[in-house]
Amino acid sequence: MTEHTAAWPEGVVARYVTVAEALVDIWYDNGTLRTRCSGETCSWTVRKSTRVFYTDSAEERDEKIAAAVPALQPDAQAHAEKCRALPRPTT
Ligand SMILES: [Zn+2]
Repeated sequence: MTEHTAAWPEGVVARYVTVAEALVDIWYDNGTLRTRCSGETCSWTVRKSTRVFYTDSAEERDEKIAAAVPALQPDAQAHAEKCRALPRPTT
């Protein structure tokens, strides 16, 4: 199993790998979809409200998250294609 097929962290709904092997995640956090890049010092981030409310059922929440993800995919894809920040070494 490689890093790319290992289990995704809690909340991550889509994952891209950059040209420098950093990971670009789209993840859900408390009503908002956010992006993050594991490239060291890379501060790129995009966010989008999912309009999920605390009164929503788990099913409604999942549907709203799924509906919001495509809006962030082009940004995540574009960032993954150009970001050259290396992840911090793990050893
Ligand atoms: Zn980056």
